[in-house]
Amino acid sequence: MRKPFIAGNWKMNTDSHSSVSLAKAISSGTQHVAGRSVDVAVIPPFVYLQAVASALSASSIAVGAQDIYIEPKGAFTGEISAAMLKDVGCSYALCGHSERRHVIGETDEMVNKKVKAALAGGLLPILCVGELREERESDKTAEVVTRQLKNGLADLGDEKVSAITIAYEPVWAIGTGLTATPQQAQEVHSLIRELISRIYDSRLADALRIQYGGSAKPDNAAELMAQPDIDGLLVGGASLKADDFLEIIKTVV
Ligand code: PEP
Repeated sequence: MRKPFIAGNWKMNTDSHSSVSLAKAISSGTQHVAGRSVDVAVIPPFVYLQAVASALSASSIAVGAQDIYIEPKGAFTGEISAAMLKDVGCSYALCGHSERRHVIGETDEMVNKKVKAALAGGLLPILCVGELREERESDKTAEVVTRQLKNGLADLGDEKVSAITIAYEPVWAIGTGLTATPQQAQEVHSLIRELISRIYDSRLADALRIQYGGSAKPDNAAELMAQPDIDGLLVGGASLKADDFLEIIKTVV
């Protein structure tokens, strides 16, 4: 049985005050469930990680980073290593979020290096995959997701892959208000699980958590989570309002 995993990606939002108050509100609203019947993580901007981690230190809510650099240390101006993220209280790192792939230009190869850097530094990667609108419209969803998944996981053995969460995030649904229907999402989640089973084995595929992301909100969360291969949600916009995020978490406990 896979424990549901709900994570809130705050992107480039909040400030020093609101990041901590949002974290505290989420923590008090999930006191009896976080870490027990559901895993919950918040993913603030780098500069607020330490303050948020410290506000959550007595809770079971994990903290994640929105990105990570591929090297452990050195002359990489502006970048942040796995060790630094661990040092300020992170346990997760997003790798290959679509905004990094399509706005910043990260390649599959770079994303694979980020997954490896996270694992080497003791962080749990959340590997994001998903097709653009034109790719879905030209029936390329399976091809794109398969490529991103295979390349993202290249050269990783069973033991490493079991520490990874996959987030299926159709790019056309992110921040647009357009959500994949539960059936559309389930179809891709099942494809991902099948691929993992083929590349690794069915035991690993059965245990793998696959989140859906793309305009998840209180009024569609339950229907999405009811799908057999949807094990959690990666929430952007709706994770910035404590009440909405808590409503979403309530749908799985
Ligand atoms: C995301 O940033 O990962 C995301 C899914 O955003 P939104 O929920 O706003 O679509």
